[in-house]
Amino acid sequence: MTISEQLFEQAKTVIPGGVNSPVRAFRAVGGHPLFIKSAKGPYIYDEDDRQYIELINSWGPMVLGHAFEPVEKAVRDAIGHSFSFGAPTRKEVEMAELIVSMVPSVEKVRMVNSGTEATMAAIRVARGFTGRDKIIKFEGCYHGHGDSFLIAAGSGAMTMGTPDSPGVTKATALDTLTAPYNDLAAVEALIENNTNQIAALILEPVVGNMGCVLPEPGFLEGLRELCTKHEIVLIFDEVMTGFRLAPGGAQQRFGITPDLTTMGKIIGGGMPVGAYGGRADIMNMVSPAGPVYQAGTLSGNPIAMSAGLAMLHYLNDHPEVYTRLDEIGNKLATGFQASLTKLGLPYTINQIGSMFTQFMTDKTVTDFETAKTCDVPRFGRYFHAMLKRGVYLAPSQFESLFVSVALTDELIEQVIQANEESLIEAAEM
Ligand SMILES: *Cc1c(COP(=O)(O)O)cnc(C)c1O
Repeated sequence: MTISEQLFEQAKTVIPGGVNSPVRAFRAVGGHPLFIKSAKGPYIYDEDDRQYIELINSWGPMVLGHAFEPVEKAVRDAIGHSFSFGAPTRKEVEMAELIVSMVPSVEKVRMVNSGTEATMAAIRVARGFTGRDKIIKFEGCYHGHGDSFLIAAGSGAMTMGTPDSPGVTKATALDTLTAPYNDLAAVEALIENNTNQIAALILEPVVGNMGCVLPEPGFLEGLRELCTKHEIVLIFDEVMTGFRLAPGGAQQRFGITPDLTTMGKIIGGGMPVGAYGGRADIMNMVSPAGPVYQAGTLSGNPIAMSAGLAMLHYLNDHPEVYTRLDEIGNKLATGFQASLTKLGLPYTINQIGSMFTQFMTDKTVTDFETAKTCDVPRFGRYFHAMLKRGVYLAPSQFESLFVSVALTDELIEQVIQANEESLIEAAEM
């Protein structure tokens, strides 16, 4: 038994499923999770002292590699001044100014402690602003674990959603409408059938959470037009894409201006941070400027702000990071595609910048329906074959890769080689 296996057995007796977030349990790929001891640059080390090339990077935040010195130093410097005050600080002002300067649509911003908090607050504010109750989301997009988002699609675009988790009430489900991603006509139909009832439309402008799925040309533009026309608050959930696809996120990369934006992951530099922001007239609804209540004892925590500020300053001052992230993404996609062609495998690669998924299906993946056509058991075999070769991937087919700039060309070649061997191993069983 490895130390990770022992720890997992121990964990299961005192933590539900042995983990503090479900996907970590490796259920989607089989086997047991690795318990991680440390990480540095492009590598992560488990309790059994094995080294892996990191392609998860804490699901995004470690975009500059693990234990990046400027971030580490900022945290060390902050620690000597106590860990929390529950009172305003200079750093929060700097953080807000920096976000406003980087993210095109954001005029005012509120800090919270996770992406989940950010999305929950954003829809509450949108509801307060419009005086309407319903929201539209897309099948396969993930917005954290708030009740309103844990809603499965109904049997057709016209029907109401149903709770996707026990504990979410039917009443909540009635207020969440779902459409297939990239389907403007379905959104139009929902709006027509719910005249003047829709407060917000929320989406991942590039999806990472069903694997990487890109918006088709005209999709984001079409949503922007529909939302403007029907006075619906357009929310870009940039918890994953923010500060990754460009310094100003997907909205900058695609040139589309949402009304509200939710942020997380990279914004905390690895600390628990989220944020939501946008148009000043909408954000002025937030308490105490306005009547919509939202609060947090640890919101704007000084240690977290120090890490986040160091991260965002670095990204803002080093645009070459984005050139390199794109280059890494392109190299991986090109290398993987070459292997697929060589092996005669018909799989689909979706990639934009450093977001990337190799879908084990011959279908073009544009939404949740097509993503679901993947050979999941085969992905499980592939995942473990990669692990054996020292490459640490997200333990699910339905995730995007999260590369960091710490990945050197030599390591990229190693990953491409490991991928080719693992594809063969997964096909053989
Ligand atoms: C990760 C993620 C969230 C949830 O953020 P947490 O910090 O895990 O609560 C929300 N939206 C998107 C798009 C995400 O990728």
